[in-house]
Amino acid sequence: MEQLKKCPLCSGERISHHLTIPDYFLSKENFSVSKCLDCGFIFTNPRPAKNDISFYYKSDDYISHSNKNTGVISFFYKIVRNYSLRQKYNLISKFKSHGHLLDIGCGTGEFLHFMHLHNWHATGIEPAPEPRYFAVNNYLLDVFDEEILSSLTPESFDLITLWHVLEHVEDLNLRIQQIKKLLKKDGLLIIALPNCLSWDAQHYKNFWAAWDLPRHLYHFTPSTINLFLRKYQFNIFYVHPLKFDSYYISLLSEKYKHGKSNFPKAFLNGFRSNFSAKRNGNNYSSLVYFIKNENS
Ligand SMILES: [Zn+2]
Repeated sequence: MEQLKKCPLCSGERISHHLTIPDYFLSKENFSVSKCLDCGFIFTNPRPAKNDISFYYKSDDYISHSNKNTGVISFFYKIVRNYSLRQKYNLISKFKSHGHLLDIGCGTGEFLHFMHLHNWHATGIEPAPEPRYFAVNNYLLDVFDEEILSSLTPESFDLITLWHVLEHVEDLNLRIQQIKKLLKKDGLLIIALPNCLSWDAQHYKNFWAAWDLPRHLYHFTPSTINLFLRKYQFNIFYVHPLKFDSYYISLLSEKYKHGKSNFPKAFLNGFRSNFSAKRNGNNYSSLVYFIKNENS
């Protein structure tokens, strides 16, 4: 395990213990999250060492990495995924219609494939070998391991996307610097993240599925992602809620809390989360941030 002595966002050293949360999904081990007293950033601390983290992804149930999955939640996930591909495409089309796309953490490549079929030149990054091979063999996509990020041509991408990926990245600051370098001056950066200030996060507390420890290393809120991006001269100019995520996260959280899926209750709580977010502060369970370079 690796203990962080400084806040990954502001480098502050005043860090306090925030919560202890088990890995309900896989190992059942306990993990902790810390909170920076200077900037409010919440992050997993201590975290598994770099060489040990892949152990915590080793499950056939890790849905974004697998298409073999059966079961009710997985079935629900795939229906939503197909709908959300179209939704993502429509959202992006409001701002850009074609060009070079880099999808970081592309998993099995469904989004890249969809974009490729709709006029985009598509490149993917996926550190896990199995989903990467699937994307390459099944969709004939250009998908590479993350080392390639340091050797791609600077300012060559019109669009860079990270769909629920930044919270998994080992070195947050290095990754955003690489992105800054690769994005064209007038390029669009899209980052989707869970929001630990959402109603469902407050309701489920330690059982909230989107803590997903120790796979999620960072737990952003709208204000901490804004602070982080400003540090690299990026501006958030538009925020879009992913309203299905509150239902999906509630469904998983019910399972963690009570040992079984409870559809009516998860549906009700998903609805309550969205309803609450609409009325106060846009604190949806998941948010998509649309970002551009300052002065562009
Ligand atoms: Zn801080």
